[in-house]
Amino acid sequence: MTRVLPRNPNVFANSPLDRASHRRADKEWLAAAFADKRSLFMPVWKLMPFLIKGREGKHEAGWITSELALALMRPGTTTIFLGINNDVAHFAIDVSSMPDPAADGALAGLGTFADLRTIAEEIDAGDAAILAQAKSVIDWHQRHGFCANCGNATVLADAGYKRVCEACNTEHFPRTDPVVIMLALNGDACLLGRQAKWPAGFYSALAGFVEPGETIEEAVAREILEESGVKIGEVLFHSTQPWPYPSSLMIGCYARALTTEIKLEQDELSDARWFTRNEIRDTLMKRGTPDLRLPPPLAIAHQLVKSWIEQAG
Ligand SMILES: [Zn+2]
Repeated sequence: MTRVLPRNPNVFANSPLDRASHRRADKEWLAAAFADKRSLFMPVWKLMPFLIKGREGKHEAGWITSELALALMRPGTTTIFLGINNDVAHFAIDVSSMPDPAADGALAGLGTFADLRTIAEEIDAGDAAILAQAKSVIDWHQRHGFCANCGNATVLADAGYKRVCEACNTEHFPRTDPVVIMLALNGDACLLGRQAKWPAGFYSALAGFVEPGETIEEAVAREILEESGVKIGEVLFHSTQPWPYPSSLMIGCYARALTTEIKLEQDELSDARWFTRNEIRDTLMKRGTPDLRLPPPLAIAHQLVKSWIEQAG
């Protein structure tokens, strides 16, 4: 598939896969792809992807062959068709029901399982996006074994993109939860907040779940008002980031502040403040010894503040 989308600045974005959703119900094609020696499988154990040591001691995604995948699988192993890249089908298998197969099993001595967040920036960016997809879908299957409509057991369908209740015929689909995350802007200053449990000096963009029946713009304005008391006018879109904990889509925005007075009325934030471009720039460039600490590049909040100071030249 030829990529035509502009590059997204966020980790877990820019997946190279063609999800080929028309293949999900094609059992014959799936069986052939599953048996194909070129196909790649990602074992996921307790929501952690399998990793191998690559060049310069860095982690790499531990894709395995169908032969090794079959050695790991048991009846009922959750198997997800992720998509196709360069004519190679990619699958994920959930091996959580067995003891760590990398410690003492089919994968012993080949690699390890590790939390995706800790290695996301180390591995290939395309693999990080694919592993986020795998983690979110497997997590959803683990938590949706029973029908929300009638309570009976559900079964996997469409190569992992659906669960069906055979008692009441309800179909259940993996969900994605939209979260707005934004910088309110007022001239040369942006609004950041902190929670009491965060490390000293650590501030980030305000954020919150979009509620049913709400637009993105309304959610941005409501969250900023609720958390800081600042009123918002125009809302501008920046970028989105899949965030597989377990299934959020972070929607990064800028919002024009109409007021500047901060009123902390909720318990959510312990502080919210306006920071100047210079303060943000000094912190990102690690100049001097700023008291401020900002989220790492993995977080879309980092990309929001970085783009904002870059826009100013
Ligand atoms: Zn049901």
